[in-house]
Amino acid sequence: MKKENYMSPEDWSLVKSFSEERETPFLVVNLNIIKKRYQELINSFPYAKVHYAVKANPADEVLLLLKELGSNFDVASVYELRKLLRLGVDPSRISYGNTIKKAADIREHYEAGVRLYVTDSEADLRNIAKAAPNSKIFVRILTEGMETADWPLSRKFGCQTDMAADLIVLAKKLGLEPYGISFHVGSQQRDISAWDAAISKVRYIFSWLEDEEDIKLKMINMGGGFPANYVSRTNELSVYAEEITRYLIEDFGDDHPEIILEPGRSLVADSGVIVSEVVLVSRKSRTSLNRWVYTDVGKFNGLIETLEESIKFPIFTDRRGEVEECIIAGPTCDSQDIMYEDHKYELPLTLTIGDRLYWFSTGAYTTSYCSVEFNGFPPLKSYFIQ
Ligand SMILES: *Cc1c(COP(=O)(O)O)cnc(C)c1O
Repeated sequence: MKKENYMSPEDWSLVKSFSEERETPFLVVNLNIIKKRYQELINSFPYAKVHYAVKANPADEVLLLLKELGSNFDVASVYELRKLLRLGVDPSRISYGNTIKKAADIREHYEAGVRLYVTDSEADLRNIAKAAPNSKIFVRILTEGMETADWPLSRKFGCQTDMAADLIVLAKKLGLEPYGISFHVGSQQRDISAWDAAISKVRYIFSWLEDEEDIKLKMINMGGGFPANYVSRTNELSVYAEEITRYLIEDFGDDHPEIILEPGRSLVADSGVIVSEVVLVSRKSRTSLNRWVYTDVGKFNGLIETLEESIKFPIFTDRRGEVEECIIAGPTCDSQDIMYEDHKYELPLTLTIGDRLYWFSTGAYTTSYCSVEFNGFPPLKSYFIQ
């Protein structure tokens, strides 16, 4: 693993000098990198509208930057909604993208002025029709390919294509505006053809509705799933864009419907570095070959995506010299709080208490996933630089 594959030397020295005198653990987010990622995304998909998935990193600083850059937002709850409204985001730029919602929460979105809603079930659709009359509806479908996503969003969301078509028909009957179809192929999706299969299903639904029901849908929401830069390699975003655009044109021709993207991870992950400290290095017996490295950051204060070692963050230290594999674990009294055991990270044999570890590409799904007070440890602090 080389630092340069993850961050430019200039950006790294910014993080390094910023973090020197500060007490660990904390996350440093370089807002310039988010800006770069956003621009790459809109250059790669010039025809798409971006709705940032707020859950990936809901910090005010991140939301304000994306607001300024012209992004729209996808929210999962009234709490995210209220936050965006407080930051002055216009409700016309907000979609309510959670298929699981209370009627009261739909009502609050509607009263705030939000008019774009997802659904994947009849009960939810009927709630929307009551609490948010005349709004635009898109239906989320199930997709395959979750084995090749590092953080799958399987089973829980979306419905079969036939049901999606039924829901669109019902939406119209209930006085809503049938607007489009959405899918999410799984987060950190490494197999680009997952979009191909999903777009084909969407094509089928569009045609069926047009032929059978005379309903012309206007929008495809292709979700998130775009890559961040972790240990397991992926293609560049530009390759994703080329391929996905080709699938779209194959199925819909040049004047394809309006396209919405809901990136979270790919916009913010690479901007962040978690700075942690080694609390303890030990072995469990005199002759044990397993070296345990315990750090002050763990599953409960930022690294929940190491569950099942799903996301493999690049980890760096300033120590040099001979390296050897080790087990890396967090600071709490919970045996789940082990980040990596099967995947063999190699760290220097000289690594010792007080040394710092730098966890790259940790700008997404870290701070927003922290426990509040488990073992007394507070949520991870974050700082913003640019
Ligand atoms: C989490 C989520 C996203 C963001 O996915 P990433 O893989 O982080 O880009 C987008 N849309 C919906 C509906 C989500 O739940």
